[in-house]
Amino acid sequence: MASRSIIPLRAVEGEQTVRVVAPESGAPHAETAMSAVHGPAPLPANGKQFHIWTIGCQMNEADSAKVASLLQEVGYRQTASEDDADIVVLNSCVVRQSAEDKVAGKLGSLARLKRTRPETRIVLTGCMVTNQQEQLRKRFPHVDLFFDPSDFDRLGLVVPELARLEDDLAALPHYYAPAADGLEPAEGYRKGVTAYVPIIYGCNFLCSYCIVPYRRGRETSRPLAAIVREVERLVADGVREVTLLGQTVNAWGHDFAAKQELVTLLRAVDAIPGLDRLRYLTSHPMYMTDELFDVMADLPTLCEHLNLPVQAGDDTVLHRMRRRYTRDHWLERLQYARSRMPDLTVATDIIVGFPGETEEQFLQTYAMLDQARCEKVHLAMYSPRPGTLSARWEDDIPHAEKHRRHQVLEKLQERIGTEINERRLGSVTEVLVEGKNKGRWSGRSRGNTLVHVDVREDTDLLGKLVDVRITSATPWFLIGEAAGAPR
Ligand code: SAH
Ligand code: SF4
Repeated sequence: MASRSIIPLRAVEGEQTVRVVAPESGAPHAETAMSAVHGPAPLPANGKQFHIWTIGCQMNEADSAKVASLLQEVGYRQTASEDDADIVVLNSCVVRQSAEDKVAGKLGSLARLKRTRPETRIVLTGCMVTNQQEQLRKRFPHVDLFFDPSDFDRLGLVVPELARLEDDLAALPHYYAPAADGLEPAEGYRKGVTAYVPIIYGCNFLCSYCIVPYRRGRETSRPLAAIVREVERLVADGVREVTLLGQTVNAWGHDFAAKQELVTLLRAVDAIPGLDRLRYLTSHPMYMTDELFDVMADLPTLCEHLNLPVQAGDDTVLHRMRRRYTRDHWLERLQYARSRMPDLTVATDIIVGFPGETEEQFLQTYAMLDQARCEKVHLAMYSPRPGTLSARWEDDIPHAEKHRRHQVLEKLQERIGTEINERRLGSVTEVLVEGKNKGRWSGRSRGNTLVHVDVREDTDLLGKLVDVRITSATPWFLIGEAAGAPR
């Protein structure tokens, strides 16, 4: 399964190769759960291979899983190496310069591959792809196809098998039936025991530093029925935990003619039989209503974990970031949430070195984080993104100073993480096991803490819920031993 960390919709510096738990090429596809339950069998293996390289947020991961699924369904097999792939798909991120640099580096190395194996098809998707593809084409002439993540049908231009399938739309309602909103992703992609399900695309906030709205467009929610159908299918395929995704996930339904609220969707998904855990990310503090926290506290599958980016702890900086809330609002929302869910864990995002951020303003962020005691903080050094409002302002905090502020907050969070996790020693927490890591089983608690599980004998815990007694703690993860029968 893919190695990943569950984090808010944000750029991650690491790259990953998405692996999808799906029928092996050549396996008896017609007997897979998905085919049996949901539609026509995938095409037989065609001897071709694909490789996917992904960087960025969970939305990219979800998109990559969808591409992988499409290719597997038409007979391609996934390979971990680009060197023996017939198609290499790069799913890009430009939210920070460092991510964009990594994509450019990867594209550079693929130019060499293309010279030695010109028949390899190279495809670029993700946020680097804009409407103006002329420039990209000039810069990366070895790329065969650029496609916008909302336009998966274009993959057919380099995957003849997909194009052929498209000719026969009627025969393939399973993959290509257009949803009412034209956005329903290909069905049947699976990731093992956990899965991401995008529920809203784009973003209507225009935070002054952020490129996302320019690349992903306005908020567009998927219909409730389509989401419920997809989760039902995932559950039928063995998924036990689903994370609903959106850049502003709690704006779900606001764009419908008859406005809806996320709580309605959460209730509907929670009611799906067989689903054990439900999460959603990333929330905007403006839309965190009392009702949303009340529903979170009440619905059994909904995990006690909240992704609530704050970005800064100083009101002047927040105002210049165009975040549309104050530090007190964010803190008050946490306070209410914790009054309803005492076990709630919170993750947040912070940008240090925003243009004009004074030492005093930075110390406000420090004090706020010290007070908030989040379980996890995703720290980023400000990086100007062309086209955004703040890119017009002087990037006046030197890199070394951004780095220092980053380190100061990292150290603070290390202390807080240690204190939080050490208090868990001896307690029992439920873990959904997602894989094996250096001889130990690993998974996440409902609060989204990474937990490694020691088992005496070689028991297969993959995909199981296990109660774990915590025996050891670090600032970043816990270690424990099974304290009951897996289920
Ligand atoms: N929708 C989410 C986050 C989207 S972008 C939210 O509202 O917070 C993911 C993360 O990348 C952000 O939380 C922010 O911390 C970081 N980020 C975005 N633009 C950035 C920039 N120009 N420089 C540095 N970090 C940035
Ligand atoms: Fe970017 Fe702000 Fe939208 Fe988050 S809410 S995606 S930070 S513009």
